[in-house]
Amino acid sequence: MAKTKKKDKAGKKAQIRCHQCSGLCCRYFALPIETPEDADDYDDIRWYLSHTQTQVFVEDGDWYLNVLNPCIYLGPDNRCLNYEKRPKICRTYKTDDCELTSGDYGYELHFTSDKQMEEYMKIKFGPKVFERYDAKKHTKAKSRSKRKTR
Ligand code: SF4
Ligand code: SF4
Repeated sequence: MAKTKKKDKAGKKAQIRCHQCSGLCCRYFALPIETPEDADDYDDIRWYLSHTQTQVFVEDGDWYLNVLNPCIYLGPDNRCLNYEKRPKICRTYKTDDCELTSGDYGYELHFTSDKQMEEYMKIKFGPKVFERYDAKKHTKAKSRSKRKTR
């Protein structure tokens, strides 16, 4: 299941915390993604990061795509408009280690833009890492032109 941070309004303590919070855990969801192995995998993640409102982070060795979109049921007063029918993941989420109470997730890696990934790839695979795609493009173009001339 996706890594998620959701409200637990069952306990009194939780009610107090959630009441004081702007619904931080209802403003994104994070999905696990495959651990990248080669430059192509990292380049796919660079593509994820080219989209607005996305981040990628690594926690305990696992990679996640973080989509920063609020839930449609988050009301203007930061309360759940779908409280009776809210998904299980929202019901079981605990405030003990949530966004408001923990603050620091201790990410091993945290990318907030494609440019960051670009720089990371240059360090990891060398400054010419992106030239390989140009080389591939030229090879394809060559083989296409060869086919045309036959
Ligand atoms: S981040 Fe924590 S305090 Fe804020 S709404 Fe979610 S569970 Fe409640
Ligand atoms: S359903 Fe309610 S508790 Fe769950 S994420 Fe949406 S607003 Fe938050």
